[in-house]
Amino acid sequence: MGDNPQSAGTVFDVQRFSLHDGPGIRTTVFLKGCPLRCLWCHNPESIDFRPEIGWRPEHCTGCGACIEACPEGCHQLSQEDSHHRFDRADCTRCGRCAEACAFGALTRIGKRMGVDEVMTEVLKDRAYYKTSGGGLTLSGGEPLAQPEFAEALLSAARSEGIHTAVETSGQVRFQTLENMVELTDLFLFDLKETDPARHETYSGMDGQLIRENLQRLNALGADIILRCPIIPTLNDRPGHFAQISDLVNSLSHIREVHVMPYHPFASHKYSELGKSAPLGRIEAPDEPQKKQWVHALKVSCPVHI
Ligand code: SF4
Ligand code: SF4
Repeated sequence: MGDNPQSAGTVFDVQRFSLHDGPGIRTTVFLKGCPLRCLWCHNPESIDFRPEIGWRPEHCTGCGACIEACPEGCHQLSQEDSHHRFDRADCTRCGRCAEACAFGALTRIGKRMGVDEVMTEVLKDRAYYKTSGGGLTLSGGEPLAQPEFAEALLSAARSEGIHTAVETSGQVRFQTLENMVELTDLFLFDLKETDPARHETYSGMDGQLIRENLQRLNALGADIILRCPIIPTLNDRPGHFAQISDLVNSLSHIREVHVMPYHPFASHKYSELGKSAPLGRIEAPDEPQKKQWVHALKVSCPVHI
């Protein structure tokens, strides 16, 4: 595997038989790294561009293999009560401890993969793509934050006649999006918040580039599904739904809007990474609440949950 951005990138998951990332049965390739910091992120392992070490102490048997493997002395087992202490301060993310751990207590999250290696996985399900209308979806993180790798994967899929979708936050240079248009059958474009000040509070960026990119992508005639995460108490206000509706009705190439209801299932992922979840406890919405959100969108295209 050559290690230049055209031929390799950092991937944290390749999920076969995905049913929610575009039409049909798909393989979703999750590229690691994102420029946004959404408070409700349910893939915290996608944020950092570098590989990370996941730590699940409940799986630790105290075998000590990681202590032997770590050149930085990050792992310690207490002589008294066998308590395992993992101090990340000096960790270089070399991954040796995760390789040494046979019990899944330490795992490496994210690795460099070549285009050929990814495509070998993707091509395994070609028959399912044909019968279901599925294909390849690039997700993340922000897949277009590794633009050369993303482009190479989309080109490879195209040359195999495989349908391509890109899930993007839109927080990328427009030139990057433009380069992908010819290679991408469908964009799953996230719209998180319509108020710039709130967008900044919730994600670290004001969303202006995202809105401009959405409008410019639409003007290029790209096929777009708009995906709107709705988080109770943060962006489930009527004004936000009205703004989404106005925006969608002003754009001619949005074929559907998908409401993406908040779910609180990511807190264990944050603790595995040694991080705290940035959002306090928020109740997951119930079915009537989700239906209200759908009805609040007055758009001319179909709305799905
Ligand atoms: S990733 Fe490397 S440096 Fe970090 S704890 Fe594991 S072995 Fe030590
Ligand atoms: S190698 Fe795994 S199971 Fe063994 S002490 Fe380290 S974390 Fe625990």
